[in-house]
Amino acid sequence: MTDKEELRNEIPSYAFISLARRGMEKISLDQCFLENCDNESSELLEPFKKEEFEDDKKKITKIHIKCKKCERTFILKLETLKSVAKSTKEIEQEPLSMGLVFALDEEGNNLGHIGYF
Ligand SMILES: [Zn+2]
Repeated sequence: MTDKEELRNEIPSYAFISLARRGMEKISLDQCFLENCDNESSELLEPFKKEEFEDDKKKITKIHIKCKKCERTFILKLETLKSVAKSTKEIEQEPLSMGLVFALDEEGNNLGHIGYF
């Protein structure tokens, strides 16, 4: 497996957007999140770098992606919270974890919260 494929595997295929009472909408993460770009082809998206940070509360993975359509770079930030809900039962359960996806531009400016994964 090449590095590129390995990085691609780190990216969830979909994120879920909460639509209040109407449930969740599923969106593909195989798209460019930069302004004025409509690239939705994974063929034209090239992940090339990964950064990881972790503390006892959350794990953050940043995947840098080059868009071959607009020739710009953006960052998908995957934030996994640990122990979102603590079990009140006596039996120890695996803490629930939840992931948040954000898009950042090349300079790290937040382009917005995309959804959950
Ligand atoms: Zn683009």
